[in-house]
Amino acid sequence: MNSHPYNPISQFYQSQFGEKVYKISVSVADTCPNREGLRGMKTCNFCDQWGSAAYHKNLEQPLRAQIEKVRSILKEKRKANKFLIYFQAYTTTFQKVHKLREEIAIALEYEDVVGVVIGTRPDCISDALLDLWNETAEKVFVAVELGVQSFDEEELVWMRRGHTGKQSLRAIQKISKNCPKVNLGIHLIFGLPGETEESVRDTAKICNDLPIHNVKIHNLHILKNTPLEEEFREGRFQPMDRETYFNHVTTFIRHLRPDMVVHRLSAYAPRWNELVAPEWTAHKMKTYQDMMDHLSENGFQQGDLYS
Ligand code: SF4
Repeated sequence: MNSHPYNPISQFYQSQFGEKVYKISVSVADTCPNREGLRGMKTCNFCDQWGSAAYHKNLEQPLRAQIEKVRSILKEKRKANKFLIYFQAYTTTFQKVHKLREEIAIALEYEDVVGVVIGTRPDCISDALLDLWNETAEKVFVAVELGVQSFDEEELVWMRRGHTGKQSLRAIQKISKNCPKVNLGIHLIFGLPGETEESVRDTAKICNDLPIHNVKIHNLHILKNTPLEEEFREGRFQPMDRETYFNHVTTFIRHLRPDMVVHRLSAYAPRWNELVAPEWTAHKMKTYQDMMDHLSENGFQQGDLYS
């Protein structure tokens, strides 16, 4: 292990690419199965109208303009040399595969783009998509980030995800088996109702047994104009307090296998004025630093309880 109490993605990128790599988030999709009401599905209870996009004005611009704008800022301000294009908003694979193929081709027109990252859902994985990922992975780095959020069926129903934990497990196995060169990660949400130290430990154990390379942890926060805001206002949902969240993340990290790469330990609202609660998540750097201090001061390390 390293000086970090966990195995950070920055270190993985450094070893993979020999230097710091910057992600450029782009939006090409503008909907998802939930928003389309497929099979009676509804918008996830935590999702705002921007579909989890970091920068909501992206969709108004062509893909090349989205890439070039951020790329030139990063080149100038951070002296960045290498980039990954992150297809983030809504469900990128909920569109024709040939369209995604064209979008990936545009992303790879830039010689300093060393790969692509595709965010999607476990129930939007077709064989044609796997072929596209394999084909792309022959040329550049390809990462897939699956929005699993939880393996608990009740929690998934509560979030209105519209897919099951079993579907997530099947999708993970399918991608891993058919796309051996794809770097596979999952997103998890902590701070759900009924979550306990035992349940997050069990989640770590499930992750340890899966053929995945990384995990990204989000804390459940309430954004304006979401179904979750309504639940909160009506007193049917209380966000997790900071201390409990830290304890849950700590338990998860300590039970996680040491080689698993971790993207981050908490999320923050990309549009800060849309955050309703909890207030502590508004302080991105402080929350991160306090969590690192909590791990370091107690001598906790990723995997120190892994068996
Ligand atoms: S979180 Fe993703 S799948 Fe859920 S409603 Fe938002 S864009 Fe759709």
